[in-house]
Amino acid sequence: MASPDLRVPAAERREALKELLAQARSCTRCPELAATRNSVVFGAGNADADLMFVGEAPGATEDEQGLPFVGRAGKLLGQLLEEIGLSREEVFIANTLMCRPPGNRDPLPLEIDNCHDYLLRKVELIEPTVICTLGNFSTKLLRADPTGITKLHGRPEVIELGRRAVRLYPIYHPAAALYTPRMLETLREDFARLPELLAEGPPAAPEHSAVPEPAPVLDPEPQQGSPEPQAVQAPRADQLGLF
Ligand code: URA
Repeated sequence: MASPDLRVPAAERREALKELLAQARSCTRCPELAATRNSVVFGAGNADADLMFVGEAPGATEDEQGLPFVGRAGKLLGQLLEEIGLSREEVFIANTLMCRPPGNRDPLPLEIDNCHDYLLRKVELIEPTVICTLGNFSTKLLRADPTGITKLHGRPEVIELGRRAVRLYPIYHPAAALYTPRMLETLREDFARLPELLAEGPPAAPEHSAVPEPAPVLDPEPQQGSPEPQAVQAPRADQLGLF
């Protein structure tokens, strides 16, 4: 049975995304990240996307531009998308963390936790059919399980997120494939299955979610003083391609 259409009207979802963007831009939940970032990389793309990618965290280029996957790994992601007939504008691209960890260190568990409800809210508002997790961090987070990407890549599964069923599709992170030709080959093969997966449409709704509850509102920020001024001009909402 296909999921009933539980979508909130597009205009309302866009307004809610704009509010979430404003909230994210002044987030100080992770004091070190808030103090060292140039921008909060909220995510970009189509607010009605059927396909959403979730990477790890912004790198230096993303932090400078305020946009996800605009560095070398991002170019590869764009190329892989093109190879399956999709453009960045048709999908939504987000990350496990919205702020760059200094020196590109791994995200810390507390940081992942702090950013988790922002990510869930994006999923809830965009309502993708397929979520493609790129690499270990987002795969472990959204599956709530420590199994690694080497074992899981290329195997779609239906999971419940934000009271909806979605097709989760873990694949290697493009950054990992940049320097390893065999991994790039595998990533390309896994990518090639995406159109087929998208064509399957939304998975059946979980039994208990027939009556949707209102989307949760994020807790107000813990007040820890004013956020650091942002060093770069953040992209406007329309420049994120979202609204
Ligand atoms: N790597 C990521 O995981 N995310 C980005 O936005 C860029 C590189």
